[in-house]
Amino acid sequence: MSDIILRLAIAAPLDRLFDYLPPVDATGGLQPGLRVRAPFGRQTVVAYIVAVVDHTGVPRAQLKRVVEVLDAQPLLSGIMWDLLAWVASYYHHPLGEVIATALPVRLREGKAATAIASGMPRWVLAVPVDQAGLALQRAPQQMRIAAALAAHPAGLSVAALTALLGVGAGVALRGLRDKSLVMQCVASGSLPTVTTSVAPPLNAAQQAAVSRITAAQGFNVFLLEGVTGSGKTEVYLAAIVAALQRGRQALVLVPEISLTPQTLARFNDRLGVHLAVLHSGLTDNERLNAWLEARSGYARVVLGTRSAVFTPLPDLGLVIVDEEHDLSYKQQDGLRYSARDFALRYAQRGNVPVVLGSATPALESLANVQRQRYQRLALPERAGDAKPPQLTLLDVRRQPMTANIAAPLILAIRHHLAAGEQVLMFLNRRGYAPVLLCHDCGWVADCARCHARYTLHQQRKRLICHHCDSQAVVPAQCPHCTSLDLRPIGYGTQRLADELTALFPAVNILRIDRDTMRNKGALSAAMSEVRSGQAQLLVGTQMLAKGHDFPNVTLVAVLDADQGLYSTDFRATEHLAQLIIQVAGRAGRGVKPGRVVIQTHNPDHPLLQILVHRGYAAYAAAALEERYAARLPPYAHLALARAEASGARAAHDFLQATLLRAGRPPLTQLEILGPVPAPMERRAGRHRAQMLFSAVERRDLHAWLNVWRAAAAEAPGARQVRWSLDVDPVDLY
Ligand code: ADP
Ligand code: ZN
Ligand code: ZN
Repeated sequence: MSDIILRLAIAAPLDRLFDYLPPVDATGGLQPGLRVRAPFGRQTVVAYIVAVVDHTGVPRAQLKRVVEVLDAQPLLSGIMWDLLAWVASYYHHPLGEVIATALPVRLREGKAATAIASGMPRWVLAVPVDQAGLALQRAPQQMRIAAALAAHPAGLSVAALTALLGVGAGVALRGLRDKSLVMQCVASGSLPTVTTSVAPPLNAAQQAAVSRITAAQGFNVFLLEGVTGSGKTEVYLAAIVAALQRGRQALVLVPEISLTPQTLARFNDRLGVHLAVLHSGLTDNERLNAWLEARSGYARVVLGTRSAVFTPLPDLGLVIVDEEHDLSYKQQDGLRYSARDFALRYAQRGNVPVVLGSATPALESLANVQRQRYQRLALPERAGDAKPPQLTLLDVRRQPMTANIAAPLILAIRHHLAAGEQVLMFLNRRGYAPVLLCHDCGWVADCARCHARYTLHQQRKRLICHHCDSQAVVPAQCPHCTSLDLRPIGYGTQRLADELTALFPAVNILRIDRDTMRNKGALSAAMSEVRSGQAQLLVGTQMLAKGHDFPNVTLVAVLDADQGLYSTDFRATEHLAQLIIQVAGRAGRGVKPGRVVIQTHNPDHPLLQILVHRGYAAYAAAALEERYAARLPPYAHLALARAEASGARAAHDFLQATLLRAGRPPLTQLEILGPVPAPMERRAGRHRAQMLFSAVERRDLHAWLNVWRAAAAEAPGARQVRWSLDVDPVDLY
């Protein structure tokens, strides 16, 4: 008997597809990429048709029927559909979960793939109002719209404009858009103010980079290695403009932290096309609208953070990944994908150029330049008149310290502040102090659920665990010996800012970290305080370290570089080197030269020495040699299996059992380390273990992962422990 069977991907942690009968009233046109609603277990879920077949191994009586088909046209098709299948196989993750991860929440929930009105784009003026006025003397209706928009810098919807005018605003708006006087903004809540910014004339290095990118035929990977402040963004903008002129769309990925209103405004101003912005601050409706605008081709540029990489773009012409080394591109839970790596695949499948930009490229990317897979484009100098900052190590051993700052650094701070310049103090630890200690008995406030200390948050009078977010009140006396002498040990940004206030009472101090920037709009307000010069002394975590352009900051102090020197993670030094160079890059971006002072108890440490005296490229070259000798990435490929359970040994025993079941692979092709306890052995009340797989050849690793994963699903304990696989892990914790 010939049947129509729908083979579905379902967002469930099961590595298989599921066969269903079509709905009784199905009218044909069933095809891959359509969403359906189907009974699954005791619920009805949204699922995705992967194939329409005419036979199944499932006995007829057990076949369930799809309840309804949700789309008339496939939601995903072509390149994106193929790429998601690739993701499922590369990350060894169920296809249904991959598709669900890639889709906006609303679509995942089964909502119609049509724009949701509340989040509809708004119109804003694209030029100053007097300029618009000049151009519109003979178009009164358009003039009225321009005036209304000038009075509403946050933008107005077509409906609002229609209400204001008393007649339909659509035609006049289109007229204005064709003259490039207005543009549409996605209603992201943080609409940039309209300024006029013109492209500076590109310098020779920028020009050369742009020419190489725009001349590229088809898939080419460019690593744009530009020192901080070298004008990489100008290169992106020029390359995007060229792609737009060819009628293509561009996809631009930025790390979460650098998607500031300033960045947005710069792109909006300069591109003059509809930009879809995708980031974690959007509501679900806004996200759906932006996604639809991109997929329809209406948005010509997509600017977004990690998950924006899954946006289907019908006219894709260029892919850009800014700060390609940034760790935020790797998702750390669920589907542990790398947006950078996916972006490369996307460009490859779309046969378009891709630009990876960074001042501190990932070692993986540098190795790919060595292997001639990527073409290097260099911006060796800062744009405009800015000079490179000067880095010095400050040996703090035996120095008197005030507020965790050595005396010579305090002098330097005074000096720069007195000259009317700004100073940035970098300390990558928020809160007041990382440890609360009883001076009488040695008791330390530990998180009850993690193998970790509580961080003291003085202002909120709370002990907070930075790993599981659990909180406790600060005890008035030691719970162990009742002593009242409880002391904060060490420094977080809060304590630093407090003590700096005492040290510099007349100075305006601004603290920028996740605690102070919790509210929407706080970061952008802080940025304007910095720009206006109102804030003189800036204290911050990595939130302050990356991407920002503060022309009047002339001194940057890295207070605790040593933290990163002691880690057991082989990537820790790479991340430390990148962070130091990125922070240092905030100094001297204007006309005045910048200085960077790095406090350390290890002034002779080879990493610090090479970084300070010879720069990131020299560090990277040395690090690559070490990685080669040790057969570590990029010269080997890793996957990390993690497991956690409430019982003390369950996670470990489970991992052990998976190995027994899978049968050990030939050791020459694959190395297995573990199972061992995770570096943080207990977290959020669960015991954790892990196991590292390493192979020189990627295909050996993946062949093994297929075997291992099947074994893991069947291994004893698989249902009692929570386990996951992290392919190409960036952090081994
Ligand atoms: P990066 O992204 O490499 O850190 P940006 O693109 O943000 O650098 O540029 C740093 C600063 O230099 C910005 O203020 C930018 O406007 C300016 N700039 C970039 N290119 C030029 C140029 N060719 N001439 C003058 N100023 C430039
Ligand atoms: Zn005590
Ligand atoms: Zn905890």
